[in-house]
Amino acid sequence: MAQSFDICIRGAGVVGRTLALLLARERLSVALVAPPAPAGTGPDVRAYALNAASRTLLHSLRCWPDAAQATPVQRMQVAGDQGGEIAFDAADQGVEALAWIADVPALEARLHEAVRFQPLVEVVAAPVPAPLTAVCEGRASRTREEFGAAFDVTPYPHHAIATRLACEQAHGATARQWFAPDGSILAFLPLGGADGRQVAVVWSVHPQQAQELLALDDAAFAARLQQASGGALGALRTEGARAAWPLQQARARQWCGPLATGGGAAASWVLAGDAAHNVHPLTGQGLNLGLGDVQALAEVLAAREPWRSVADLRLLRRYERRRKTALLPMGLATDGLQRLFSLPQEPWQWLRNQGMRGVDRSGPLKHWMARHAMGTP
Ligand SMILES: Cc1cc2nc3c(=O)[nH]c(=O)nc-3n(C[C@H](O)[C@H](O)[C@H](O)COP(=O)(O)OP(=O)(O)OC[C@H]3O[C@@H](n4cnc5c(N)ncnc54)[C@H](O)[C@@H]3O)c2cc1C
Repeated sequence: MAQSFDICIRGAGVVGRTLALLLARERLSVALVAPPAPAGTGPDVRAYALNAASRTLLHSLRCWPDAAQATPVQRMQVAGDQGGEIAFDAADQGVEALAWIADVPALEARLHEAVRFQPLVEVVAAPVPAPLTAVCEGRASRTREEFGAAFDVTPYPHHAIATRLACEQAHGATARQWFAPDGSILAFLPLGGADGRQVAVVWSVHPQQAQELLALDDAAFAARLQQASGGALGALRTEGARAAWPLQQARARQWCGPLATGGGAAASWVLAGDAAHNVHPLTGQGLNLGLGDVQALAEVLAAREPWRSVADLRLLRRYERRRKTALLPMGLATDGLQRLFSLPQEPWQWLRNQGMRGVDRSGPLKHWMARHAMGTP
C-alpha cells in the first residue's frame, strides 16, 4: 500500500527542511519534495546573518553549524553617505551577540543530515497527495502560481553580488555596512570565528554596475571593494566564486487556500519563506522571517484540536494573520531604508545622515531597532 502523508512540503531549501523537521517533531508524517539539483550547481557563496530567534530554533533541531561556521557579531557599524554613522554593540544591548553569520553550505549540510535521520520525513522526487501542501519553493515558486496565489512584486534597481574575501586585518567580530551616494550598499559580514580574517560580501548595486563588476578579474574586483570599504580591513583578496541576484520586494496576497481534490477529503495549501515574501537583503532578514513563518506554522498545527485536520483553513488563516502582522515592521523598515538611501539629492542625503546620527545618540530608539533586528522585540 502506498504510504500516506499528513503534509507534502514542496521545496527543500532551508525553510522547507526546517519545516519538515519541526512537523516531524510534532509526530506528523512529511513528504519533502527535493528534485535533484541541476548539474553544475556549486556551493552557495553566501553567509546569512541569523538572529537569536533563528539560532534558538535551529539549535533546538540540532542543525546549528559548528562555532567556526557561525561567527557571533559583537559590533555592527553602519556608515551613511555623508558622514552619518550608527554603531551597535552586543554588550550595550546586554546580549551574547547581535547576530551570527552562518556559512550557508554548513547550515544546509546540517539540515540535510537531520532530515536523513528523521524517520517521519521522506524525501521524494515529485509531489505526493496529502491533506496539506506547504509551498517553500522560494521566490520563483511555480506551485504558488499553479495554486493561483497572487504575488505582488516591486523590483528594486539593485542586484546583490555575493562573494568571500580574505582580509589583511582581522574583522574583530564586527559586521560593517556602507551606504554610498549612488545608492549602492556594501556589507562585510565576519566569518571564521571572532579572530577571523575572512568576510562574506553582499554588494547591492545597479544592475548595469553589477554586470561590470562581475566581468572584472579578481584583483580589480578586490581593488573596487577595498575602495568602497575605505580600506577598513586593509588589503583584500577574493576567495571563491562571485554570484548575483536581482532584488525585489514581494508579498503574497493570500498565504493559504483550498485545493481541489475531486471529491476526496479536504485539502489545502499554505506558503512559507521566500515563496510568501521577499525583502531587500540590506537588513539581513529574509531567512529570519522565513524561519519565523515555519515556527509559527508548526506551532499553530501542533496546537490544533485533536479532531481538526491540518488542512483546516481556520488554522491556516490564523498562521497567515500572525505572520502578516509580524512581517509588517521589518518589511516597512527594510523598504524604507532602501528608498531613503536611493534618493541621491538633497535634502534626503542630509536628512538620512542626520537621522543616523540622531538614532545613534538616542538610547531607546536604538535599543528598539536592535531588538527588532535580533528577533527579540
Ligand atoms: C545576496 C543575498 C543575501 C542574503 N542574506 C541574508 C541574510 O544575511 N540573512 C537572512 O535572513 N536572509 C538573507 N537572504 C535571504 C535568504 O536567502 C532567503 O530569505 C532564503 O534563502 C529563503 O529560503 P527559502 O527556503 O524560502 O527559499 P530558497 O532558498 O529559494 O529555497 C527554495 C528551494 O525550493 C526549491 N524549488 C524551487 N522550485 C521547486 C519546485 N517546483 N519543486 C521542488 N522544489 C523547488 C529550490 O531548488 C530551493 O531548494 C539573502 C538573500 C540574498 C539574495
